[in-house]
Amino acid sequence: MIIDLHAHTRYSWCGRDDPAELIEEMITHGVEVLGITDHQRGIGEDVQVYCDTIRGLAKKYEDKIRLFCGVELCTLPEWQPKQGETFAEYDYCLIENLADKESVMCGDLLAYVKDYQCPVGIAHTDLFSFIKAKGLDARQYLKGLADRGVFWELNVNYDSIHGYQEHAYVKRFMESEYEQALVKESGLAVSIGFDGHRKEDYLVERVAAGNDFLQKTGIKNAVDLLIR
Ligand SMILES: [Zn+2]
Ligand SMILES: [Zn+2]
Repeated sequence: MIIDLHAHTRYSWCGRDDPAELIEEMITHGVEVLGITDHQRGIGEDVQVYCDTIRGLAKKYEDKIRLFCGVELCTLPEWQPKQGETFAEYDYCLIENLADKESVMCGDLLAYVKDYQCPVGIAHTDLFSFIKAKGLDARQYLKGLADRGVFWELNVNYDSIHGYQEHAYVKRFMESEYEQALVKESGLAVSIGFDGHRKEDYLVERVAAGNDFLQKTGIKNAVDLLIR
């Protein structure tokens, strides 16, 4: 199955695509499950409009593609979510900047998201380098995430918006049987996301390869946390 849990539309300040046009393009690529995850700073006060739009399209295209209504949360001081938000409106959120020293999470993701009422994914983060830098026990840390239902994203982006840069941690993880074994053992679910911002930049083969990799290694696909 081709599952992509990270995509942007014009609701993100850096995105451009009309949601319906993006969805139609994804259908032509054979994407079967798509999570739209616009930035909270782009959605701003339009949470209801955004959710109604994506859910309306989910219904309209339900015979062709399964859609999820997500959000991507920046946790840098100037853009952090408002205190007390629970994100109950969304199917899930992707959280950014875990390994960033400036992040208001201060490295403690589980404490930060404790009141969130939707599944949480860790966006584009080199989790193993983060664990090492923090001096954490990998087994224990990964299990803690898995037990809370947090998932980890393998961001397979390669496009104009991100300067055609691949995420090195993804390549390393796909080659490291050691890291794969730790993730598998912990029960941590993993998502594949292209993080597209322009539909013409989409490389479906990267998303398909990511999903195949999860299936082949027996690592739990995060989509299982969303389809309930
Ligand atoms: Zn991001
Ligand atoms: Zn993104």
